[in-house]
Amino acid sequence: MTIAIIAHDGKKAEMVAFIKDHFDLFQSKSIDLIATGTTGSHLERAGLQVNKMASGPVGGDAQIASLIVEGKVDMVIFFRDPLGKHPHEPDVQMLMRLCDVYNIPLATNPAAAMRFVQTL
Ligand code: PGA
Repeated sequence: MTIAIIAHDGKKAEMVAFIKDHFDLFQSKSIDLIATGTTGSHLERAGLQVNKMASGPVGGDAQIASLIVEGKVDMVIFFRDPLGKHPHEPDVQMLMRLCDVYNIPLATNPAAAMRFVQTL
């Protein structure tokens, strides 16, 4: 299965901690990871193989949204920062809308992500 991972800047540290807590799962051969650019670099530094898209503000969320439309994403874990301002907010909204259009599970905070990974 393919899992998309995205974290806003204010949530990247939490994302890395989450990934480290579930490292064995995320590095298993049955899971392919894709991520927005900077989030992906963090995942690589944590020791994971990841297919990196562009950075979020320059189209990475839109690329992941496009893959959702193509049926190539099975789950999205998006640690959003609800207190930050994001120049690419329209792309973020598009990504989340398309998760609903295509019925793709979307976790937008660590508690939800934890429940998701417990199902894998
Ligand atoms: P980034 O993008 O991983 O390239 O920082 C994430 C985002 O803000 O959508």
